[in-house]
Amino acid sequence: MASKNQVPCGPCMFDDVTKNAGKWCTNCEEGLCEDCGNSHRKSKILRNHKVISIDDYRKIENIAISQVCEHHGENLEWFCKNHDEAICVVCVPSKHKTCSDVIPISVALSNARQSTALSDLEDAIETTLLNVKQCIKNRESATNDLEKQELTVKNMILETRTKVNLHLDKLEEKLLRELRETADSCKSKYNKFLRNLKATEEKLNKLKEQTRHMKQFSSDIQVFLGTRQINGQINSEVESIKSDICATKDYEFKVSMHSLLSLNYQTKLKSLDK
Ligand SMILES: [Zn+2]
Ligand SMILES: [Zn+2]
Ligand SMILES: [Zn+2]
Ligand SMILES: [Zn+2]
Repeated sequence: MASKNQVPCGPCMFDDVTKNAGKWCTNCEEGLCEDCGNSHRKSKILRNHKVISIDDYRKIENIAISQVCEHHGENLEWFCKNHDEAICVVCVPSKHKTCSDVIPISVALSNARQSTALSDLEDAIETTLLNVKQCIKNRESATNDLEKQELTVKNMILETRTKVNLHLDKLEEKLLRELRETADSCKSKYNKFLRNLKATEEKLNKLKEQTRHMKQFSSDIQVFLGTRQINGQINSEVESIKSDICATKDYEFKVSMHSLLSLNYQTKLKSLDK
Protein backbone atom coordinates (compact mmCIF):
# COMPACT_ATOMS: atom_id res chain seq x y z
CA MET A 1 0.00 0.00 0.00
CA ALA A 2 1.24 3.49 -0.81
CA SER A 3 0.84 5.86 2.12
CA LYS A 4 0.35 9.60 1.87
CA ASN A 5 4.06 10.39 1.99
CA GLN A 6 5.06 7.62 -0.39
CA VAL A 7 5.45 7.94 -4.13
CA PRO A 8 3.54 5.21 -6.02
CA CYS A 9 5.19 3.18 -8.79
CA GLY A 10 3.91 4.52 -12.13
CA PRO A 11 4.11 1.30 -14.25
CA CYS A 12 2.42 -0.72 -11.46
CA MET A 13 -0.33 1.89 -11.19
CA PHE A 14 -0.92 1.38 -14.92
CA ASP A 15 -1.82 -2.24 -13.98
CA ASP A 16 -4.04 -0.97 -11.11
CA VAL A 17 -1.49 -2.18 -8.57
CA THR A 18 -0.41 0.19 -5.80
CA LYS A 19 3.25 -0.18 -4.85
CA ASN A 20 5.72 2.27 -3.28
CA ALA A 21 8.44 3.57 -5.58
CA GLY A 22 12.07 3.52 -4.41
CA LYS A 23 13.35 5.32 -7.52
CA TRP A 24 12.20 8.15 -9.78
CA CYS A 25 12.81 8.47 -13.52
CA THR A 26 13.22 12.16 -14.37
CA ASN A 27 12.57 11.49 -18.07
CA CYS A 28 9.41 9.39 -17.64
CA GLU A 29 8.48 11.61 -14.66
CA GLU A 30 7.17 8.73 -12.59
CA GLY A 31 8.12 6.56 -9.63
CA LEU A 32 9.56 3.05 -10.07
CA CYS A 33 9.30 0.11 -7.68
CA GLU A 34 12.24 -2.27 -7.43
CA ASP A 35 10.91 -4.66 -10.14
CA CYS A 36 9.87 -1.90 -12.55
CA GLY A 37 13.18 -0.11 -11.89
CA ASN A 38 15.07 -3.24 -12.95
CA SER A 39 13.10 -3.72 -16.16
CA HIS A 40 13.37 0.07 -16.86
CA ARG A 41 17.17 -0.21 -16.54
CA LYS A 42 17.32 -3.24 -18.87
CA SER A 43 15.19 -1.73 -21.64
CA LYS A 44 17.50 -0.43 -24.34
CA ILE A 45 15.38 2.60 -25.21
CA LEU A 46 15.14 3.70 -21.55
CA ARG A 47 18.74 2.92 -20.59
CA ASN A 48 20.03 6.53 -20.72
CA HIS A 49 17.10 7.90 -18.69
CA LYS A 50 18.17 9.70 -15.55
CA VAL A 51 16.90 7.64 -12.61
CA ILE A 52 17.34 9.13 -9.09
CA SER A 53 16.45 8.04 -5.55
CA ILE A 54 13.12 9.06 -4.05
CA ASP A 55 15.06 11.18 -1.48
CA ASP A 56 16.65 13.15 -4.34
CA TYR A 57 13.27 13.39 -6.08
CA ARG A 58 11.91 15.04 -2.89
CA LYS A 59 14.49 17.82 -3.38
CA ILE A 60 13.26 18.66 -6.90
CA GLU A 61 9.55 17.74 -6.75
CA ASN A 62 8.51 21.29 -5.78
CA ILE A 63 10.63 23.05 -8.42
CA ALA A 64 8.08 24.16 -10.99
CA ILE A 65 9.61 23.64 -14.40
CA SER A 66 7.24 23.58 -17.36
CA GLN A 67 8.19 21.41 -20.33
CA VAL A 68 5.35 22.63 -22.54
CA CYS A 69 4.99 25.86 -24.53
CA GLU A 70 2.93 28.41 -22.65
CA HIS A 71 1.40 29.70 -25.92
CA HIS A 72 0.61 26.43 -27.71
CA GLY A 73 0.66 23.73 -25.03
CA GLU A 74 3.03 21.63 -27.14
CA ASN A 75 6.25 20.08 -25.78
CA LEU A 76 9.27 22.38 -25.86
CA GLU A 77 11.31 20.32 -28.31
CA TRP A 78 13.19 23.08 -30.16
CA PHE A 79 15.66 25.78 -29.18
CA CYS A 80 16.20 29.10 -30.98
CA LYS A 81 19.81 30.22 -30.44
CA ASN A 82 19.02 33.69 -31.84
CA HIS A 83 16.38 34.31 -29.18
CA ASP A 84 18.00 32.02 -26.54
CA GLU A 85 14.53 30.54 -26.14
CA ALA A 86 13.05 27.03 -25.90
CA ILE A 87 10.17 26.75 -28.34
CA CYS A 88 7.57 24.24 -29.53
CA VAL A 89 6.84 22.85 -32.97
CA VAL A 90 4.16 25.51 -33.52
CA CYS A 91 6.52 28.36 -32.49
CA VAL A 92 9.12 27.40 -35.14
CA PRO A 93 7.21 28.45 -38.31
CA SER A 94 5.49 31.42 -36.69
CA LYS A 95 7.67 33.61 -34.45
CA HIS A 96 11.03 32.06 -35.43
CA LYS A 97 10.50 31.67 -39.18
CA THR A 98 13.46 33.90 -40.03
CA CYS A 99 15.73 32.66 -37.24
CA SER A 100 18.85 31.01 -38.65
CA ASP A 101 19.79 28.90 -35.61
CA VAL A 102 16.85 26.73 -34.55
CA ILE A 103 18.09 23.34 -33.31
CA PRO A 104 16.45 20.34 -31.61
CA ILE A 105 16.45 20.84 -27.85
CA SER A 106 18.14 17.45 -27.39
CA VAL A 107 21.20 18.93 -29.15
CA ALA A 108 21.05 22.19 -27.18
CA LEU A 109 20.90 20.50 -23.76
CA SER A 110 23.92 18.25 -24.33
CA ASN A 111 26.11 20.51 -22.17
CA ALA A 112 23.26 22.08 -20.11
CA ARG A 113 25.14 21.41 -16.85
CA GLN A 114 28.27 23.22 -18.05
CA SER A 115 26.50 26.08 -19.88
CA THR A 116 27.28 29.73 -19.25
CA ALA A 117 23.54 30.30 -18.84
CA LEU A 118 23.53 27.99 -15.80
CA SER A 119 26.71 29.47 -14.33
CA ASP A 120 25.29 32.97 -15.00
CA LEU A 121 22.17 31.90 -13.10
CA GLU A 122 24.29 30.61 -10.22
CA ASP A 123 26.29 33.85 -10.20
CA ALA A 124 23.09 35.92 -10.24
CA ILE A 125 21.70 33.92 -7.30
CA GLU A 126 24.98 34.25 -5.40
CA THR A 127 25.21 38.01 -6.02
CA THR A 128 21.58 38.60 -5.11
CA LEU A 129 22.01 36.49 -1.98
CA LEU A 130 25.05 38.58 -0.97
CA ASN A 131 23.09 41.79 -1.54
CA VAL A 132 20.15 40.52 0.51
CA LYS A 133 22.52 39.47 3.31
CA GLN A 134 24.08 42.94 3.21
CA CYS A 135 20.61 44.49 3.40
CA ILE A 136 19.69 42.27 6.37
CA LYS A 137 22.91 43.26 8.16
CA ASN A 138 22.27 46.89 7.36
CA ARG A 139 18.68 46.80 8.70
CA GLU A 140 19.79 44.89 11.80
CA SER A 141 22.36 47.52 12.63
CA ALA A 142 19.79 50.24 11.88
CA THR A 143 17.44 48.53 14.36
CA ASN A 144 20.23 48.48 16.94
CA ASP A 145 20.93 52.16 16.34
CA LEU A 146 17.25 52.93 16.71
CA GLU A 147 17.12 51.09 20.03
CA LYS A 148 20.13 53.06 21.28
CA GLN A 149 18.50 56.31 20.21
CA GLU A 150 15.27 55.30 21.89
CA LEU A 151 17.16 54.70 25.13
CA THR A 152 18.93 58.06 24.87
CA VAL A 153 15.66 59.94 24.34
CA LYS A 154 14.04 57.97 27.14
CA ASN A 155 16.83 58.95 29.54
CA MET A 156 16.51 62.55 28.42
CA ILE A 157 12.78 62.49 29.18
CA LEU A 158 13.41 60.99 32.62
CA GLU A 159 16.11 63.57 33.38
CA THR A 160 13.82 66.37 32.27
CA ARG A 161 11.10 64.95 34.47
CA THR A 162 13.46 65.01 37.47
CA LYS A 163 14.46 68.59 36.70
CA VAL A 164 10.83 69.68 36.37
CA ASN A 165 10.04 67.99 39.68
CA LEU A 166 12.91 69.80 41.37
CA HIS A 167 11.86 73.10 39.85
CA LEU A 168 8.24 72.60 40.98
CA ASP A 169 9.43 71.72 44.50
CA LYS A 170 11.38 74.98 44.66
CA LEU A 171 8.49 76.95 43.20
CA GLU A 172 6.08 75.46 45.74
CA GLU A 173 8.48 76.29 48.59
CA LYS A 174 8.88 79.88 47.36
CA LEU A 175 5.11 80.42 46.94
CA LEU A 176 4.34 79.00 50.38
CA ARG A 177 7.03 81.23 51.95
CA GLU A 178 5.63 84.32 50.22
CA LEU A 179 2.10 83.39 51.29
CA ARG A 180 3.21 82.97 54.90
CA GLU A 181 5.09 86.30 54.89
CA THR A 182 2.15 88.15 53.35
CA ALA A 183 -0.31 86.61 55.83
CA ASP A 184 2.00 87.52 58.73
CA SER A 185 2.25 91.12 57.54
CA CYS A 186 -1.55 91.42 57.17
CA LYS A 187 -2.14 89.90 60.58
CA SER A 188 0.35 92.28 62.20
CA LYS A 189 -1.53 95.27 60.69
CA TYR A 190 -4.83 93.88 62.01
CA ASN A 191 -3.24 93.36 65.43
CA LYS A 192 -1.90 96.90 65.59
CA PHE A 193 -5.38 98.35 64.95
CA LEU A 194 -6.87 95.90 67.43
CA ARG A 195 -4.41 97.07 70.11
CA ASN A 196 -5.35 100.73 69.38
CA LEU A 197 -9.04 99.90 69.64
CA LYS A 198 -8.57 98.13 72.96
CA ALA A 199 -6.54 101.07 74.35
CA THR A 200 -9.32 103.44 73.24
CA GLU A 201 -11.93 101.20 74.85
CA GLU A 202 -9.95 101.35 78.10
CA LYS A 203 -9.63 105.16 77.94
CA LEU A 204 -13.38 105.52 77.25
CA ASN A 205 -14.22 103.29 80.21
CA LYS A 206 -11.99 105.48 82.42
CA LEU A 207 -13.62 108.69 81.13
CA LYS A 208 -17.06 107.13 81.70
CA GLU A 209 -16.09 106.33 85.30
CA GLN A 210 -14.59 109.80 85.84
CA THR A 211 -17.71 111.45 84.40
CA ARG A 212 -19.99 109.40 86.67
CA HIS A 213 -17.87 110.30 89.76
CA MET A 214 -17.66 113.97 88.72
CA LYS A 215 -21.44 114.08 88.39
CA GLN A 216 -21.85 112.54 91.88
CA PHE A 217 -19.16 114.27 93.89
CA SER A 218 -17.65 117.39 92.21
CA SER A 219 -18.67 121.09 92.60
CA ASP A 220 -20.69 122.91 89.93
CA ILE A 221 -17.65 124.76 88.55
CA GLN A 222 -15.73 121.50 88.37
CA VAL A 223 -18.65 119.78 86.56
CA PHE A 224 -18.93 122.75 84.17
CA LEU A 225 -15.23 122.75 83.25
CA GLY A 226 -14.84 118.97 83.47
CA THR A 227 -17.74 118.40 81.04
CA ARG A 228 -15.98 120.49 78.41
CA GLN A 229 -12.51 119.07 79.03
CA ILE A 230 -13.65 115.41 79.00
CA ASN A 231 -15.72 116.20 75.90
CA GLY A 232 -12.52 117.46 74.22
CA GLN A 233 -10.74 114.20 75.07
CA ILE A 234 -13.70 112.16 73.73
CA ASN A 235 -13.62 114.14 70.48
CA SER A 236 -9.92 113.54 69.98
CA GLU A 237 -10.41 109.77 70.59
CA VAL A 238 -13.28 109.73 68.04
CA GLU A 239 -11.05 111.52 65.47
CA SER A 240 -8.24 109.05 66.05
CA ILE A 241 -10.56 106.01 65.66
CA LYS A 242 -12.07 107.54 62.51
CA SER A 243 -8.66 107.96 60.88
CA ASP A 244 -7.64 104.41 61.92
CA ILE A 245 -10.86 103.01 60.41
CA CYS A 246 -10.23 104.92 57.17
CA ALA A 247 -6.75 103.37 56.94
CA THR A 248 -8.02 99.86 57.63
CA LYS A 249 -8.28 97.37 54.78
CA ASP A 250 -9.74 93.89 54.48
CA TYR A 251 -7.09 91.79 52.82
CA GLU A 252 -7.90 88.99 50.39
CA PHE A 253 -5.53 86.49 48.84
CA LYS A 254 -5.70 85.78 45.15
CA VAL A 255 -3.47 83.51 43.06
CA SER A 256 -2.89 84.00 39.36
CA MET A 257 -1.28 81.22 37.34
CA HIS A 258 0.75 81.98 34.26
CA SER A 259 -0.71 80.62 31.00
CA LEU A 260 2.59 78.82 30.29
CA LEU A 261 1.66 76.35 33.01
CA SER A 262 -0.64 74.60 30.54
CA LEU A 263 2.16 72.70 28.90
CA ASN A 264 2.36 71.44 25.33
CA TYR A 265 4.33 68.37 24.43
CA GLN A 266 5.65 67.92 20.95
CA THR A 267 7.47 64.91 19.60
CA LYS A 268 9.42 65.28 16.42
CA LEU A 269 10.95 62.30 14.69
CA LYS A 270 13.32 62.75 11.82
CA SER A 271 14.61 60.15 9.40
CA LEU A 272 17.63 60.90 7.29
CA ASP A 273 18.55 59.29 4.00
CA LYS A 274 22.19 58.54 3.67
ZN1 LIG B 1 6.32 -1.33 -10.37
ZN1 LIG C 1 12.36 6.40 -17.78
ZN1 LIG D 1 4.81 27.19 -29.00
ZN1 LIG E 1 14.02 32.73 -32.82
